[in-house]
Amino acid sequence: MTYDRFGRNIHYLRISLTDRCNLRCVYCMPEDMTFRPSEALMQDDEVLRLVRLFAELGFDKIRLTGGEPTLRKGVVDLVREIASVPGIRSLSMTTNGILLDKLAEPLARAGLQRVNISLDTLNPERFRSVTRWGSLEHVWAGIEAAEAAGLTPIKLNAVVARGFNEEDVVALAELTRQRPWHVRFIEMMPFGGVTELQTGAVVPHQEIKQRLEAGLGALEEANGGRLDGEARLYRLPGARGTIGLISSVTQPFCASCTRARLTADGRLRMCLLRETEIDLLTPLRAGASREELRRLLLQALWNKPWGHGLAQQEIPLDRAMSEIGG
Ligand code: SAM
Ligand code: SF4
Repeated sequence: MTYDRFGRNIHYLRISLTDRCNLRCVYCMPEDMTFRPSEALMQDDEVLRLVRLFAELGFDKIRLTGGEPTLRKGVVDLVREIASVPGIRSLSMTTNGILLDKLAEPLARAGLQRVNISLDTLNPERFRSVTRWGSLEHVWAGIEAAEAAGLTPIKLNAVVARGFNEEDVVALAELTRQRPWHVRFIEMMPFGGVTELQTGAVVPHQEIKQRLEAGLGALEEANGGRLDGEARLYRLPGARGTIGLISSVTQPFCASCTRARLTADGRLRMCLLRETEIDLLTPLRAGASREELRRLLLQALWNKPWGHGLAQQEIPLDRAMSEIGG
């Protein structure tokens, strides 16, 4: 087990498999986003070497993300390899769902356990305006394929951005009445230089909750009021699924953070919203030994920053969410 200097057990790794995406969500990247050349990104053997090292340090939970992880060439084979690394007990993916129609079943057979699918609205035109060109139909087919393949429980993530989809929270939450899905609303995080949406577009947790209660009546607390990961859980009376509120901006959960992130170009980022990164790919390619890499990792993990500084207006300016792996 690996602890940081604040006594947090860090055992959850999010890996960005690519910085590319087949959508351009307004809060995530600009329309003319440029991507890194593929040789600058971790190759499969490099991802696996690092995953083994993390697993040896006690990491047991991995989430594959991006960019859009399903766009990575050979993603099914890579999932199979990661799933077979000793010590990895939980393997999941965050995806926009567009390609799941075809990939859900092979991914599940390769050892993927669950998916979080991003869906910000059930209105086809607004879906297009948030994603700039996506089709809601494809995502819906992806959700159904994921459920059929057993990538459950299905979690749907909706980022709420002012002026785009704050009205859509009610219809999304209503999905939980008939389906055993977890619909989670996420406060938009401002990423300084990289997207046009800034702090003014953040819709705080309290406002999301008020909108839900105005449309649907009082929400019941679920999970005994405890956080489920980063989400505060609620339920509509009699509903099969749950509603989660993730308030990374207004009520940060840094004190219980167990995560580290590996960017697609092999940098270890210990806090999503802090710019400090440790380059692992360069030493790996330069022939660093297992012991040297292990030392580098332990030092980086120990020095994990306490938390983000959004409340002090300290906004990361260096990278888009898609590059870090959200
Ligand atoms: N492409 C995949 C997807 O959209 O699910 C995986 C990568 S995406 C960067 C991961 C998650 O980050 C998505 O749920 C997305 O909505 C969320 N995200 C992107 N930009 C964000 C922002 N500025 N604030 C909060 N969440 C954001
Ligand atoms: Fe792509 Fe996901 Fe970012 Fe949307 S949120 S642009 S789907 S990486």
